[in-house]
Order: sequence, then C-alpha cells, then structure tokens
Amino acid sequence: MSVEIIEVGPRDGLQNHPRFVATFDKIELVRRAVAAGSRRVEVTSFVHPAKVPNLADAEQVVAGLGDSGVDSIGVIMNARGLDRAIAAGVAEVNVVVLASDTFGQRNQGMTTAEAVAEARRLLPRAHDAGLRASVTVGATFGCPFEGETPLSRVLHIVEDVLAAGPDEVALADTIGVAVPEQVERVFTAVRAVTDAPLRCHFHNTRNLGSANVLAAVGAGATAVDASVGGLGGCPFAPNATGNVATEDVVYALHRSGYPTTMSLDAAIDNARWLGGVLGEQVPGLLSRAGGF
Ligand code: ZN
Repeated sequence: MSVEIIEVGPRDGLQNHPRFVATFDKIELVRRAVAAGSRRVEVTSFVHPAKVPNLADAEQVVAGLGDSGVDSIGVIMNARGLDRAIAAGVAEVNVVVLASDTFGQRNQGMTTAEAVAEARRLLPRAHDAGLRASVTVGATFGCPFEGETPLSRVLHIVEDVLAAGPDEVALADTIGVAVPEQVERVFTAVRAVTDAPLRCHFHNTRNLGSANVLAAVGAGATAVDASVGGLGGCPFAPNATGNVATEDVVYALHRSGYPTTMSLDAAIDNARWLGGVLGEQVPGLLSRAGGF
C-alpha cells in the first residue's frame, strides 16, 4: 500500500523562518507540492498573526489555491481558528494538542486537558461544516520543558480525542528528540487502541528524521508529514530545527520498498526552487546528493 506524503512546508516549514515569504511564493510552493505528488498539503495555520507573523496571510494563501487540485489543511488551536478555516474554505483542519502542560501553555495558552477538551468541541463542528478533521498530538516523544513524555499520557490523550471521531491521528516529535526504537514502541501502542489512520510528524533536529519515519511506517503509520527542503521549526520550542525533508523521506521510503505517489525528481526540484526563493542552501540532503 502506498504511503501518503503530506507536505507541511507552507505551514511548518515557513512559520519560523527569519523572513516573510511572499504569498505568491507560498501558493507556488503548494502548487509544486501537488505537482510532485502530494494531494494533501498543510497550507497554513489559523493562529493570531501577532504570534506567527509569517502566516498572517492565511486567508490569501487559501484563496489563491482555487484550481490547484489540492486538499488543503489548515492548522487550528481554537474556535476562532476553526471559524477562520471554515470561512477560508480549507478541506481539512488539524487540531493541535500538546502532550505537555508547559509546552501547551507556551504554544497555545492551554494545558493538555484544556486542549483535549477544545479538540472535542472543535472536531464535531468541523465535521458539521463538511470538513475533514484530524488531531496532532505534539511533543509525543519528548518536551523541551518537561523532558520525557510518558507513553501512558500519550495513550490517554489519544483515547480522549478518539471520542470526537478524528479522521486521522498524528503523533508529532515537535522538537526532534525521538529515536526509532521509541517510535516503533509508541506507534505500536497507539495502533493497539485505535483503528483511526495514523500519521507521523518528525523534525530532523538530531539527524534521525528519516529513520524515525521508516520506524513509524513499519509500525503502522500510513501518512507522513514532510517539508520541502527540510525547512521548519516551532516558534515556541527552543532551538527548533527543520522537519524531515520531503525529498529525503521520499528517497528513504522508495528505497525501502514503500511506494508513494511522489516523484523524487520533482521533490528534489522543489527543494532547489525553494532554496532559490529563500536565497539559501536548504537543510535537506537529496537536493545536493541527488537520487541513486
Ligand atoms: Zn513540526
């Protein structure tokens, strides 16, 4: 079965970048991701523009995607974000729940319990509005402020949000501390409590991003978040670094016998294009090394 690559570059890749990327370049990034084989793309986040100025053009980005064929995903944290996402016309919302109280309060002003309760209010509203709705459990593999995240805590969060019927549950290594053994253990445990499709989200902070993706897919994840060129980072996590690079992940999956709908050549071309837009060498390796 094909592994789905969800491009998160327009959102996670650019939200913390030192410079604001023009709206038309963000739209082009989404179009290029679709052309490379990603159907679902996390196109923006509906958060307060004062908190994440790089994504202040959320509505304009979605409006510019009219005929692109993308299934656009907007990240939300609260009811205001959901209202904006519905009005903008995204196909799907992704509700974030942080598995750590300290991180949750810094990221979105909510404890884990408050974020779970909010997710349980938001998901039915999103579904009523005809949107797909998924949940990302952030800091699943560790927190910059509280250290290790107990697996029992992750399982409780997943069980609590399942009551709201998410279309998919994502487990996110927001700060890039996971290792493959842990990834396999956590995904296997979560797989045992739900039939919902599982998605993984890794940052390559400690150079284990692609290895963690392979471990997650081996343990049942059917969708993988990745960012063109390996850009990215959370504004509220100290020393945050990039997501796993789309082109690196496509290479790792294809060479490991997992088909995707992606073209490696097009993914590499997109990474080089984005590096040109930003005027910098992107962190991903395949745009330098090429395929094999
Ligand atoms: Zn992330």
